[in-house]
Amino acid sequence: MNKDNQNNEELLLRIKELEDKVSGLTMENQMLQISINESESLHKSVVENSLDGTLIFDKDFDIIYANDEVFNISSYNESELLDFRLEDLVAPESLENVKNILNDVLNKVIESKKFEFDLINRYGEIRNIFASCSFTNDFQGNKALVLQILDITDIKSAERRMIEINHELEQRVNERTSQLQETMDDLKVEIAVRKKAELELQLAKEEVDNALEKEKELNTLKTRFISMISHEYRTPLTVILTSTYLVEQYYQGEHQEQFNKFLGKIRNSVDTMTQLLEDVLTIGKAESVKSKIIPKKINIIDYIREIIEECKVVDKDKHNFILNYELSSPEIISDEKSLRHIFQNIISNAAKYSPGADEVTIDIKENSRNLVVYVTDKGIGIPNDDIANLFETFHRASNVGSISGTGLGLSIVKRCLDSLYGEIGVQSELGKGTKFILELPKDIQLFMK
Ligand code: ATP
Ligand code: MG
Repeated sequence: MNKDNQNNEELLLRIKELEDKVSGLTMENQMLQISINESESLHKSVVENSLDGTLIFDKDFDIIYANDEVFNISSYNESELLDFRLEDLVAPESLENVKNILNDVLNKVIESKKFEFDLINRYGEIRNIFASCSFTNDFQGNKALVLQILDITDIKSAERRMIEINHELEQRVNERTSQLQETMDDLKVEIAVRKKAELELQLAKEEVDNALEKEKELNTLKTRFISMISHEYRTPLTVILTSTYLVEQYYQGEHQEQFNKFLGKIRNSVDTMTQLLEDVLTIGKAESVKSKIIPKKINIIDYIREIIEECKVVDKDKHNFILNYELSSPEIISDEKSLRHIFQNIISNAAKYSPGADEVTIDIKENSRNLVVYVTDKGIGIPNDDIANLFETFHRASNVGSISGTGLGLSIVKRCLDSLYGEIGVQSELGKGTKFILELPKDIQLFMK
């Protein structure tokens, strides 16, 4: 009996212990449940308040949970979404890729995956989504998938716009660069052309300078030579001329007539040479002629008549000199010596260069300021090529043939006219004749002040 009692007591003790354990475990269970609930509600509040959208799919890709942000992104409400499957939200173009990823995660081929896809919202608009997919269990412990989604449509379109802008910018930079390159190429060409032109200009300038220098040297040499010769010739010519008179006096021979004829020839030659020397010296002095102008009242008609008479002597009456004039008054104020050089040369040229013709005409007219004199012949004329150089020292035209001359007359005329503030022009037709037109102030004093 005692033994039975003892067993009962032990049993009771054992039951008590078990009861205590059960109640301890229940307590523990309750505590655990509380903490599970807390954790669940914490988790739920985190998910629901999350800035990301959260979607949970079951293994058949039916939506079993969606948070507020998914409603915002898709514009569908909760009850609509809970009726949806994956393909109701995902754009057809993205669907296959999304399914593959979800399958891989579901079957644990991969643990999780971040990717992008296009979602179609309630209004049929495409939203660009950045997603992260991971494996989970649903509340019953079945396989499920969590999809965290972020609407990156604005970012994407900003990104696209940025790419476009970058592209446009790049294009513009390229265009500008090639424009710049072209401009630089053009500039290089222009610089090269300019450099070449500058170099050519420099060379041409040097050539002109050299030519000018040489011309100057030559002119000085010519002037010196001419005045030297003139001086050296003067004395012997005077000696020859005076000797002819002496020889004439002392000659007692039979052939007086013949003798005098040859003496005459010597005197003519001496005259010609003396005239030449005079011309040369006139040119030599021409530079200072201006200062030696002596204004004087001159009856120009009488004066030209006088010159014509002198020319007639040299011309040996081969020509008929016709003088016409239309003047308000024959009086002018000018320099006598210069006028003589001018008219003597021009009128004697007219006779000299018209050997076959018989007329030399001198027309004297006037305008308000000037006396205008035309000297016209019907002679050999002047070739066009010679006209430009006609007034240069020693220049003679190519058609003079055997007509003698030195080419000094017209250069003296030009210089004298310059000093009288006058001008000269020429019109000529080869073989038909020449007309010199001279203009001289009627009163030189008006120009000398
Ligand atoms: P000179 O020094 O003796 O006068 P020149 O008559 O040859 O010599 P210019 O009077 O200076 O020299 O004339 C220059 C050139 O102009 C002449 O050689 C001649 O070729 C041409 N010339 C001048 N006047 C006439 C004219 N009236 N008709 C044709 N040619 C002329
Ligand atoms: Mg002459």
